[in-house]
Amino acid sequence: MLRNILLISSLLFSGIPSYSQAKEPPVTNTAWTQPYPAFRIAGNLYYVGTYDLGCYLITSSKGHILINTGTAASLKQIQSGIRDLGFKLKDIRILLTTQVHYDHVGAMAKLKLLTGAKMLVNQKDSGVLADGGRSDYELGKLGTSFHPVKPDGVLKDGDSIRLGDIKMVILHHPGHTKGSASYLLEVKDENRNYRVLIANMPTIISDRKFSDIHSYPGIATDFAYTLKSMKGLQFDLWVASHASQFGLHSKHKPGDAYDPQAFADRQGYDDELRELQESYDKKMNGRSGTAAYSPSTFSYL
Ligand SMILES: [Zn+2]
Repeated sequence: MLRNILLISSLLFSGIPSYSQAKEPPVTNTAWTQPYPAFRIAGNLYYVGTYDLGCYLITSSKGHILINTGTAASLKQIQSGIRDLGFKLKDIRILLTTQVHYDHVGAMAKLKLLTGAKMLVNQKDSGVLADGGRSDYELGKLGTSFHPVKPDGVLKDGDSIRLGDIKMVILHHPGHTKGSASYLLEVKDENRNYRVLIANMPTIISDRKFSDIHSYPGIATDFAYTLKSMKGLQFDLWVASHASQFGLHSKHKPGDAYDPQAFADRQGYDDELRELQESYDKKMNGRSGTAAYSPSTFSYL
């Protein structure tokens, strides 16, 4: 009998080797780990991330959608943020991400386990999500940097995501990862409707020449596509994968009253994209224009 139990338990463990092998790089960027009070951005859209890692809760009477989880350690902050807002973690039905790097999906496996929610991901990021980052064209060198998640479904550019009265569209914005994505959604409050962009800004993280990145042959074309496509988007409000990218801390302070208009800022969005276009152009012209990845210094992973 004892022998049988041992055999069964070893089989169980052998079934999840990648989960137990996941090793997140040391997180030394304090802006990633510093807590930040959850707050209402606009209508049924809420910020539940850390000081810098943008995680977004979209609520409905039929359940909620969560976009991004931050690192593995961000889980506690997401849990308390959702509770403080008066919602329940177990009501999350759909999990999404803007990109499959460990600072955005580090707690995804655990959250999926806790909520039983369905994980949907852009089809070009599904393989990297399922192998914990090992096949990422750049961060694959870190090994299994987050707990792998087998997606329940894949999404492609323009697909709709609906839950209760939530209506969202996924926009494929490749380059940063092959399946990086932004989301467009309509939210409404007592006064009006807002078209909100949750943006994944196309930051370049490789210090190699694009032509040397053999595991991502179309990378230069993808970045060019994303830059052009993002410049043409129309929205009322915008936020992004990193708080620093959309200037959260100059727009909102903990305890501030509800103020969706603080997140209008088309100018800030255009300025960000102009800088990213410059980085891209420099790289294409053979000049650096990139920041080599270092866990301690890189803020826009
Ligand atoms: Zn990233």
